[in-house]
Amino acid sequence: MEYYSLNGNAPKVSFSEAVVGGLAPDKGLYFPENISPLPSSFFETIEDMDTIEIGFQTIKQFVGDEIPETELREILTDVLSFDFPVIDIEENIGTLELFHGPTMAFKDVGARFMARCLGYFNKNNENKVTVLVATSGDTGGAVAQGFLGVKGVDVVILYPSGKVSDIQERQLTTLGQNITALKVNGVFDDCQDMVKKAFLDESITNHKQLTSANSINIARWLPQLFYFVFAYKQVKSKKKDIVFSVPSGNFGNICAGIVASKLGLPVKHFVASTNINDTVVRYMNTSKYEPKPSKATISNAMDVGNPSNFIRIQQLFDNNFESLRNRFSAYSYDDESTKEAMKKIYHQSNYIADPHGAVGYLGLKEYDLKENEFGVFLETAHPVKFLDIVEDTLNTTIDIPLQIQRVLHKEKVSIAINDYKELKEFLLN
Ligand SMILES: *Cc1c(COP(=O)(O)O)cnc(C)c1O
Repeated sequence: MEYYSLNGNAPKVSFSEAVVGGLAPDKGLYFPENISPLPSSFFETIEDMDTIEIGFQTIKQFVGDEIPETELREILTDVLSFDFPVIDIEENIGTLELFHGPTMAFKDVGARFMARCLGYFNKNNENKVTVLVATSGDTGGAVAQGFLGVKGVDVVILYPSGKVSDIQERQLTTLGQNITALKVNGVFDDCQDMVKKAFLDESITNHKQLTSANSINIARWLPQLFYFVFAYKQVKSKKKDIVFSVPSGNFGNICAGIVASKLGLPVKHFVASTNINDTVVRYMNTSKYEPKPSKATISNAMDVGNPSNFIRIQQLFDNNFESLRNRFSAYSYDDESTKEAMKKIYHQSNYIADPHGAVGYLGLKEYDLKENEFGVFLETAHPVKFLDIVEDTLNTTIDIPLQIQRVLHKEKVSIAINDYKELKEFLLN
């Protein structure tokens, strides 16, 4: 499989080149040259397949022959070592829990898959790769954990000071080894801008091989398509049309879901649910794409003003606004409505949703499911990751899972930086 740049001004590359490079030289995002639907027998017999087999069948065309089947299956066995259950919430609504991995956020799968691919490609390479990543909360922890101890790879994480939760901060600042956390005096967009700038700065890239581990990287982005297929396997027997609602920030997750539907996965409609960072919602209403600086919310992993993957979504619909609108809706919610939704889900269904999941729930409600439809909202993080907000809102206490207990008492270590110049100094030293 070859990948081309969506800016149309860079050579086509292989899977490994796209993974190692991150962004194309013309600053464009890489996109698969073609997406071939799976045979219908795949979806007819999906009940008989385990997660590894489903993962292998759905990802293999994107990896091609660059990772041999045995190794790819080993990588998937390692990456998909936990559950992805769909829990019924209401008569026609379920939630797909994506938080059973090591950092309890859905990004674990993408981060671990990318880390293992990069480790595979880099295993005989003398030169180190530096993974540079901006996080609005959860990416950092998942990437740090995913890459911890991977040979030949250093990880540098930029996060906005004071804008991630205490647990999120601990997850990305307490690991040590090949992981360094940079605490940026700014918002997530500042972190993301600095990362993008560094990739284009030859005075850095002439000395260091940099790559990204944000969902702009295809190895972070594409494996997220598994979730939608795993959910389908579980709800297929309901014999209803499936509508997915995806709490969205950079729109990588929902975009991967749309890739799954291109593989033939039967999905009726996609709902992108956002907080007040509503650039895509405004676009769907006006067909004008006008990014705005991000604003802080209680669903901070979605505080993104200019979602990087939206351009891939447009490409998946051949840049046709009408086709997009037929299969895709976007809605936005403020923190008050999010909290109300958390309370409603808790009191009606005795289920504790985190703020991101609650936004996803609201999106399904607004979409207004028909009789023959089943809605699945993605629960993208464990509620414990937003402990204070969840406990205050629901007036209850949450048991701290083991994965989190392990980081709670470790010392946070980070380096404060104020601007791009300081990032550059750090990278060149
Ligand atoms: C990253 C993240 C999101 C947003 O996912 P995108 O792929 O960036 O749209 C939603 N919820 C949580 C908990 C996240 O960590």
